[in-house]
Amino acid sequence: MADVTMEKLVSLCKRRGFIYPGSEIYGGLSGTWDYGPLGVELKNNIKALWWKMFVQEREDMYGVDAAILMNPKVWEASGHVTGFADPLVECKKCKRRYRADQVGDLSTPLEARKCPECGGAFGDVRQFNMMFKTQIGATPARTTDNVQSGGDDASATTYLRPETAGGIFVNFKNVVDSFHPKLPFGIAQIGKAFRNEIAPRDFIFRVRELEQMEVEYFVYPDEWKGAFEAWRKEVYRYIDAVGISKDLVHELEVPDGERAHYSKRTIDFEFDWPFGRKELYGLAYRTDFDLSAHAKASGAGLTMTDEEGKEPLTPHVVEPSFGVDRTILALLISAYTEDQLGGEPRTYLKFNPAVAPVKAAVFPLLKNKPQLVEKAREVYALIKKAVPQTMWDDNGNIGKRYRRQDEIGTPHCITIDFQTLEDDTVTLRNRDTGEQKRISIDELASHVA
Ligand code: ATP
Repeated sequence: MADVTMEKLVSLCKRRGFIYPGSEIYGGLSGTWDYGPLGVELKNNIKALWWKMFVQEREDMYGVDAAILMNPKVWEASGHVTGFADPLVECKKCKRRYRADQVGDLSTPLEARKCPECGGAFGDVRQFNMMFKTQIGATPARTTDNVQSGGDDASATTYLRPETAGGIFVNFKNVVDSFHPKLPFGIAQIGKAFRNEIAPRDFIFRVRELEQMEVEYFVYPDEWKGAFEAWRKEVYRYIDAVGISKDLVHELEVPDGERAHYSKRTIDFEFDWPFGRKELYGLAYRTDFDLSAHAKASGAGLTMTDEEGKEPLTPHVVEPSFGVDRTILALLISAYTEDQLGGEPRTYLKFNPAVAPVKAAVFPLLKNKPQLVEKAREVYALIKKAVPQTMWDDNGNIGKRYRRQDEIGTPHCITIDFQTLEDDTVTLRNRDTGEQKRISIDELASHVA
């Protein structure tokens, strides 16, 4: 791995239009980041690859896109209202707040630890619920009409979803009624989730507005182990396909007492970040916890009868959960490369072409020669039609353009020069080796595609 530091990555991402601090001109908003023109392309490619692998290429998967705002009863039944909390401690002196399980030397008791900012002592630990509350309706204190739960004033308060899974469980019955799937089958969703993290940090690693790609895979209760192993392999298949370095990924069997309230077995797929080894993805066996809890709280029948004459059963669930933002950070770290090319140091992102935000860049050798520019525009239109993520670049000299494209991970650079005007060939440059070869314009689009 190259000497990749968070400073280098954050600066490259900002400078080249991948990721900007949220609300930057107002001084930012902690725990939020905005994806710029290249970041959004990268993100869309990552999500499209996941959707293709886990929804479109399979027969046993159904996609949904549920509302972020849900009836608050969803989060009461799922246990998030009471259980989705992190341990919060406050420094008695400077009043800074930390997560008790993340501050100081964890091998010593909290009373013996000191505030990293001012050296003060910590007060008692209290559980801090991480769900963002919000009000539904125009006069939340008096009106409950807009909330189907009816009842008292408090029901006008709801939450921004802390995980996408909730939207999947409440649509279980809808999908079963519309498609009559047989077990095992899964429902997948990609979307935003919100967590009021006590200490957002490490760039896009721990944010308050995040995006998740989740599958709830429903199985016969006695078949969860097989499904768990199968999804464990699928997690690696995605890691490989997207271009995350496998040698930086390690499994952690989460011990009893440390798992989420709904899980009987969890594996964390951890990654070696520049700031330490921490979770990238999770795989959890959620038993029938959610379906049973939602059936009880809502009164809906969330069971299935798979075969004639059999008793209805509540399926069990295996859940692989992938964070989009952590995928992007792991990818940037995996792709970041520094080397020497032609005696000059350079930085480039060795993105897998499938996720690279720009697949090809087209340049006229000189921008003040109308014949070259006209020809280059023709080639650009041709490639852009076949591969929409193609960029035009005529800024600065050729060397500068190559370096700029390397830095954003563009696999192909195509230069239109004087020879092109004679024989309809162009120079095609490979990002990783810097090698250039001539290729005829006829073959170019299929080559890039
Ligand atoms: P952590 O222990 O790091 O707080 P978690 O165990 O709470 O993570 P899960 O509830 O398993 O995380 O969430 C599933 C996935 O969502 C994680 O594997 C991660 O990729 C992503 N994720 C969770 N919280 C955040 C966050 N605050 N910022 C970015 N991604 C997150």
